[in-house]
Amino acid sequence: DKMVYYFGKTKTEGKGGSKAILGGKGLNLAEMTSIGLPVPPGFTITTEVCDGYYKAGKKLPKGLMDEIQDAVKILEKELGKNFGDNENPLLVSVRSGAAVSMPGMMNTILNLGLNDEATEGLAKATKNERFAYDAYRRLINMYGDVVMGLHHEQFEAAFDKVKKKHNVTEDTEVPAEGLRELCEAYKEVYKKGTGEDFPQDPIKQLQLAIEAVFGSWNADRAISYRRIESAKGNTEINNLIGTAVNVQAMVYGNMGDDSGTGVGFTRDPNTGQNKFYGEFLINAQGEDVVAGIRTPQPVAQMAKWDKAAHKELMEIKKKLEDHYTDMQDIEFTIERGKLFMLQTRNGKRNGIAAVKIACDMVKEGLITEKEAVLRVPASDLTHCLLPSFKPTARNAADVLCRGLNASPGAAVGKLAFTATEARERFEAGEDVILVRRETSPEDVEGMSAAVGILTSTGGATSHAAVVARGWGKCCVAGASEVEINEKGKTITVGGRKFTAKDTISLDGTTGEVMAGEVETQEPKLSGDFAKLMKWADEYRRLSIRTNADSPADSKRARDFGAEGIGLCRTEHMFFEADRIIHMRAMILAEDEDARRAALKKLLPFQRKDFEGIFKAMKGCPVTVRLLDPPLHEFLPHEAAAQKQMAEELGVKPAEIKKRGAALHESNPMLGHRGCRLSVTYPEILEMQVQAIVEAAISCAKKKIDAQPEIMIPLVGTAAELRILREKVEETIEATKTAKKFEGELNILIGTMIEIPRACLTADEVAEYADFFSFGTNDLTQMTFGYSRDDVGGFLPDYIEAKIVPVDPFQSLDTSGVGQLVEMGVTKGRSIKKKLKVGICGEHGGDPASIDFCNSVGLDYVSCSPFRVPIARLAAAQAAL
Ligand code: PEP
Ligand code: MG
Repeated sequence: DKMVYYFGKTKTEGKGGSKAILGGKGLNLAEMTSIGLPVPPGFTITTEVCDGYYKAGKKLPKGLMDEIQDAVKILEKELGKNFGDNENPLLVSVRSGAAVSMPGMMNTILNLGLNDEATEGLAKATKNERFAYDAYRRLINMYGDVVMGLHHEQFEAAFDKVKKKHNVTEDTEVPAEGLRELCEAYKEVYKKGTGEDFPQDPIKQLQLAIEAVFGSWNADRAISYRRIESAKGNTEINNLIGTAVNVQAMVYGNMGDDSGTGVGFTRDPNTGQNKFYGEFLINAQGEDVVAGIRTPQPVAQMAKWDKAAHKELMEIKKKLEDHYTDMQDIEFTIERGKLFMLQTRNGKRNGIAAVKIACDMVKEGLITEKEAVLRVPASDLTHCLLPSFKPTARNAADVLCRGLNASPGAAVGKLAFTATEARERFEAGEDVILVRRETSPEDVEGMSAAVGILTSTGGATSHAAVVARGWGKCCVAGASEVEINEKGKTITVGGRKFTAKDTISLDGTTGEVMAGEVETQEPKLSGDFAKLMKWADEYRRLSIRTNADSPADSKRARDFGAEGIGLCRTEHMFFEADRIIHMRAMILAEDEDARRAALKKLLPFQRKDFEGIFKAMKGCPVTVRLLDPPLHEFLPHEAAAQKQMAEELGVKPAEIKKRGAALHESNPMLGHRGCRLSVTYPEILEMQVQAIVEAAISCAKKKIDAQPEIMIPLVGTAAELRILREKVEETIEATKTAKKFEGELNILIGTMIEIPRACLTADEVAEYADFFSFGTNDLTQMTFGYSRDDVGGFLPDYIEAKIVPVDPFQSLDTSGVGQLVEMGVTKGRSIKKKLKVGICGEHGGDPASIDFCNSVGLDYVSCSPFRVPIARLAAAQAAL
C-alpha cells in the first residue's frame, strides 16, 4: 500500500482520500491544498504505517524511508530550499494526526532539519541570527525530550547558566550571542544524556521523529485519553488503528511585528451567528495562543493590523464553508505578511448554534433541508429547550464537584434538606434545590417544589432522575462527593460546608455542582428551532408520544409536538397530600369491603385527573397504565411519619408498622407489583378503569375527543392478560350501564411488554392485547439482572472495563435486550398483523435506541416531554 501522500503545488495525493488512513489533519491539509488555499506543502505518512510499525515490533516498514526521501525531494524542489542547506534551509514540523482528534495527547516536533550549518543558513536567509539560534536550541531541546526521552530540567539548568552570564532573567532577553552559546551547551546536554551527538543529518532526524510520533500513540496519556473518551460514548475512538504523521514545511508567526498566528471558528460556536469568531497574536507561534501566556486579540481587530491578511482570511472562511458545507475550526499563521492555513476541521458547537447554523446554511444554499436534519445531533436539542447558564458566567463558575448528568438544565437555589422543607420554602417564594441522599416517591412534592434536585447516590434511572426528566427539571444524581447531614442541615463538598442559607447552582447537562449563583438564560422555541422540527416531521415514520401524568405535562408535551401519551403512570397521582391518606387506608384495610370503601374515596380524584389529561390531549391517544409499584412504597418509613399517619387514620402506630412489615419484600421489583396487584386486589383495577371510563364519558358529553387506552403492566404470561382483560371489559360495560351511556368509547386494552417471558411468548400474549408497549426499563433490568435502582454501585466500573459499552438503562442494549424486543414484535404481529407496538421505557427518548425502534418496525416511541423534540429529530434521522 501507498505509505506517503504528498500535498503541495506539484500534486495532492490525499485529495478526497480516507480519514481513517490519512487522519483528520492529513486529509484536511490535502483538501485545503486541493481547493487552492495557502497551505505550507508537505506529506502525510498513513495510519496504516503506524499499525504496521507496531505489528512489526516497533520497526518502520521497508521502503518507507525511500518514499519519504522522494517526498522530501519534491518538497525541496517546490520551495527552492534544501534540507541542511547553509544558505536557505528547508525546515519542517512533524505532527501526529489520528482519524479522531486527540488534542495534545501525542508528540509534535518543530524546526526539524536544523543542524549547525542549516542554522547559519537560516540566520542568513532571515537576516536574523537570534531567531535562527533560538529555533535551533528549541529543536535540540524538543528533540532531546520527545525523541530521546531526556529530562527538560537538564536543559533548563544550561539555560539558567547562560542567562546568568548575560545578566538577564527572561528567555526573550538573551542576545544572539548567548543563544549561540546555549546551542553548544544544549548539544553537550544531549550528548551526555544520550551518549550520541545531536544528529546533523536531517533525514535521520526525520526518521527518529516519525518513530517518536508513532511511539506516542501508545504513551500512557494517549491510552488513558482513548479509554476515557470511549467510556463517554465516543466509540469511534476504539476503532482507530494508529496515528498518521504529517511532515510539513515550517512557517513562522514569530518573525517580527509583521508576523502572527491565530485560531478561530468560521461562525460563532456559542450562538451560531455567521461571524468569524477567533483570536490572534502578533509575533508569536501557535503554542503561545494555546498556552495563554499572552492575551490574544479578537480577529475582528485584525484588519487594523494587516488589512490584506484579514481580507484573505475572510475569503478563506467562505471558501472553506463552500467546500466543507459546514462550520470550520481553523489554525492560521502569518509569516511576514503572508497568510498560511495550518489546520481545519468541522467545528464543535452547542445545540443552539447547531440549529442556527444548519438553518442558515439551508438559506445560503450550502446544504439541503434533509442535510440540515441529519446535521444536528438530536441530543443537543436539549440545549434549545431548557434554561442554560450564560457561557461567560459558566466559565467563571466555582465548580465543587461532578455527579451524573441525570436531567439537563440549569438550576440556581438555596439548599433544602427534606421534601416538606422544600415545599414550605417554595410556598414562601424561595427558589430551593432539594438535596437528598436518594429520593423516594415520598419526596415528589418536594421535588416538584424545587428548582433542581441533587442526590449523592443513585443512577440515571433512579426515581429522582426519571421524575426530574419527566418534568424537565434539572437533576444531578449520584454526586458521591457531596456529604449530606440532613439533621444539621448542611452539606460538605471537598471540605467546604454549605447551609440552608447558601445558594448553589446545578448544571444538569454536565452534572456539575457549583457554589453560588451562576447567571442563566431562557430558551426560545420559535424561529430556526421550529423550522428544523417541521423538516424533521416530514421525514420521520415513527409517531412520537410522551410519558406524562398531569394536564400541565400533557400540555407542555403537546407544545413540543407530542402526538399522544404513551405512558401515564397512575401511581404518581396517589402521592398528593389529599389522596395518599385514602391510598394508605386502602392498604391498611383488613378486608375487601374496607378496601373498596377507601378506593371509593380515591375514585373522584382519579376521574378528575383523567378528565384533565384527556382534555389536554384531546384528539390524541392516551395510554393509562394501571397501578404498578408495590404497595409498601405508599407507606411512610420513618417513625414520625408513621405516627402522623396513625393519627390521621385513627389507628395505632403499631398497626402501621405491622402492615409495613407484612408488605416487606426481599426483591420488591420482582415482587407483588404490576398486574400481580390486580390479580390479588381486582378492586383496585376496577376503581381505576371506572375512573377512566367515567372521565371518557364526561368528555364525550362535552364533545371532547378522548381516546383512552388501558395498559396492564408487568405481564409475563398470556393468562394474566386474559383474566385481567376480561375484568377490564366487564368494568367498562358495567360503568357504561351505570352511567346509562350508549355511545361508543373504543377503549383499546393492551399490555406492557417488560418481562423477558412476555417477549418469548408474545404470540400467546398478543391474542389478548390490542397493543404492546415495551417497558424497556424493566426489560433491561430483568434481562441483565441488574437492579435499576442500584446499578450506580458497579456500572461505572463495568463501563470503564468495557464490559458494557454504555449504560444499558440509557441506551438500549440492541444486541441483547434488542433481540427480545424484536422477537416480541415479530411474534406479536404473527398473531395480529396490525398490532400497534410502541416503547415507553426511558430509551424512547434516546436517539440510538430510537434508530433501533425504527428499524424493528415499532409504530411509536414515548418519552418525557422535554425529549419529544429530540425524538422527532432522531426519528427523522433514523428514517433518512
Ligand atoms: C419500564 O419498565 O420501562 C416502564 C416504562 O415502566 P416503569 O419505568 O414505570 O417501571
Ligand atoms: Mg416497568
